[in-house]
Formats: sequence, structure tokens, C-alpha cells
Amino acid sequence: MIAAEDFERLFKRLCKRFGKKMNPDQAEIYYDCLSNCNKKRLDEAIDKVIRGEKYWPTPGQIEETYLILKNKSEPESKVCEYCEAGFVFFQMNGKRFANPCAHCNETSTAHLVAKMGDIIFWAYQSTQQKSDGSPVFRSNLNNMQRIKGAMFSVAATRNPKFQPRADTELLQCNT
Ligand SMILES: [Zn+2]
Repeated sequence: MIAAEDFERLFKRLCKRFGKKMNPDQAEIYYDCLSNCNKKRLDEAIDKVIRGEKYWPTPGQIEETYLILKNKSEPESKVCEYCEAGFVFFQMNGKRFANPCAHCNETSTAHLVAKMGDIIFWAYQSTQQKSDGSPVFRSNLNNMQRIKGAMFSVAATRNPKFQPRADTELLQCNT
């Protein structure tokens, strides 16, 4: 999130470069489109636009430049050998699921799961409450509980039409 006054400063630079005068309503549209950006990275994106673009950019062009820079500096979210991009895909009762991987996500608002071979486990410790009352799950690979009937599926990973947040009962581990 970028503060309006910070945005104004960046936007002024952009206007200067392209010799553009914007009324507050127009500037507000740009702000609405870009207000979720990280300040430092938006600053870099606007620099890039100032240097590279011939014509006054649309909000979409600035956003595109921003996203390119963002993806460069954060190439893959978090990936480990047990998951795909931080998610474990599995099948259960004929449905596909994807939950955050407990190996590489420390906390999540969805239940964290772990994969051992083709078998899928819950791997989190008891929930704590966020300020808004919603639960938070903390990764705990020492508290693995098998999700009955859930099997890792290559087919699921190839066709990731998943249903996040499996709502299956927590089962007692037999080991
Ligand atoms: Zn992982």
C-alpha cells in the first residue's frame, strides 16, 4: 500500500517527464489502480517508465512494469521439493485440493499440509486467533496427522483446478 502523498510525489515526476497536466480526478484513477503497490518498487517502475516510454503511460502500463520488476526480485514464492510453488496438491474422495505446504510456509490462514511419498498429512499446530478472529495455522512438522484418503496426485498437479482449504476432520495419528 502506498500513501497518497508518496504517490503524489512519484506522479509529479511522471507528469514532469511527459509534460502532462493532470487534474485531481485523473490522478485519483491512477492512484486507485496503483495504490496497492510497494512504494520502493513503484518508484523503480516509474523510473523505468520515465526512461523507457515515449508516450504518457496508462495505469496498466505502469502496473505491468511494476509486476515485471516484482517478479524479477521475487522469482518464485517459496518452493521446496515437496510442493509446487508453496502448495501441495492432492486428491481426496475424487476431489482435488491444494493447501499451503508446511515445509515452506510458516503460517497460513489455510490448514498447512505436508507430503511424504504419496501420502498427505496435516502438519500444523493448534490455531491462534488473528485480531479479526480468524484462525492462523503455524507449520509444525513434528505434529503430522495423516489425512485419511488423501493421496498426492500427479494428475492434480497437472490440472490444478483445486479446492483450497480441505475441511476434513483431523484424525489421530496411529504411529
Ligand atoms: Zn514446500
